[in-house]
Amino acid sequence: MAKSKVKPRMAEKILVVEDEALIRDMVTVALGDEGYETVAVADGRSGWELLKDNSTFDLVILDLMLPQINGLDLCRLLRQSNNMVPVLMLSARGTETDRVVGLEIGADDYLTKPFGMRELIARCRALIRRQNQQGSRNSLNYEEINLYPEECRVVVGDKELNLSPKEFRLLELFMSHPKRVWSRESLLEKIWGHDFVGDSKTVDVHIRWLREKLEVDPSHPKYLVTIRGFGYRFG
Ligand code: CA
Repeated sequence: MAKSKVKPRMAEKILVVEDEALIRDMVTVALGDEGYETVAVADGRSGWELLKDNSTFDLVILDLMLPQINGLDLCRLLRQSNNMVPVLMLSARGTETDRVVGLEIGADDYLTKPFGMRELIARCRALIRRQNQQGSRNSLNYEEINLYPEECRVVVGDKELNLSPKEFRLLELFMSHPKRVWSRESLLEKIWGHDFVGDSKTVDVHIRWLREKLEVDPSHPKYLVTIRGFGYRFG
């Protein structure tokens, strides 16, 4: 007999990519009990097949160690294709390096196995809520800078900037993560993709161009700040 549990009007849809059947089932059942609609697959390639042309998922729960395409590579593919669906990464390895790498390539949160289902649900809720709040905002704003992602426009005060696509994407990335420090390598990978042949000087050059357009005094940048020995930070 069907459960009479009240489901949200529009169930949020979560993709679970996990090769361990037991964990996959536990996660799927727990999410289902919370009213989420779930799709579960057991390897990275199947996950990518579902994600590459499909933006209907509200969240992806992604195991790190997966057959065919591992979790890090899948997450990287997603971000390179400009799919910004929130990603909660799961891993049996709780090392700080894994966490940092996971977050650097664009995962939104990270959970180390073993984890409790309540913890998982709480993280999922928070990520979906954050995404919904962002989605309802049609511009990114910082002081007098307004960036309109859908229109590819940036207005500073009352002046419209004329940015190249790479400059625009750089600024969008910075403004989406204020105060976060980006290494040149991570910017290169995020904006140019990891197949890009070139070096981190490319990043410096684009930052310089962006500063010339954005900053009142490009030699004393207020927005795109150099963090010596690390990279760049916005704000
Ligand atoms: Ca695994």
